[in-house]
Amino acid sequence: MIMLPKLPYGNDALEPHISSNTMDFHYGKHHNTYVENLNKLIEGTEFSQETLENIIKNTSGRDDKTAVFNNAAQVWNHTFYWNSIKPAGGGIPYGPLGEKINLDFGSYEIFAKKFKDTALGQFGSGWAWLVQKDGKLEIIKTSNADTPIAKDVKPLLTVDVWEHAYYLDYQNKRADYLDSFIKNLINWDFVNANLIA
Ligand code: FE
Repeated sequence: MIMLPKLPYGNDALEPHISSNTMDFHYGKHHNTYVENLNKLIEGTEFSQETLENIIKNTSGRDDKTAVFNNAAQVWNHTFYWNSIKPAGGGIPYGPLGEKINLDFGSYEIFAKKFKDTALGQFGSGWAWLVQKDGKLEIIKTSNADTPIAKDVKPLLTVDVWEHAYYLDYQNKRADYLDSFIKNLINWDFVNANLIA
């Protein structure tokens, strides 16, 4: 049985950047529905006692397990997304991650532009990620439910660019949502912890 993790902050804590109305739907309905669907799909199967990570790794790329993979990956991705943001977050990264961004991208500004452009360039639903691959930071995007952990790539930060993440607050203006995300929401403590782990 996979559980919906508690949010690390209140439903209204990210206002005005992400409204409590968005949180009610995005966390309370979308994320929760992925959890409920996954539990229905794995009940009585070989996956019923598995961890979420193992379910994702063992169903990735399997045509007969697409629904299990999609729901499991979306449960994992959303939990990672909620942890990637916090009230009064964003701004210039600090600590080892700040140094690593300067080293691998040249500057924070270059990183921020590339992260935004990659997230904007995801056609349709999906995610943009800061990942660590072969020791280097990279920015990648994934479609729909796809997730770096299915490919053993280490994620450090993600932004959800499914319309349900921003439509109530920003309508079609994904760029404005991304500006807000980068300037006001990124939880660099979480990203630093992932880098060191
Ligand atoms: Fe979402």
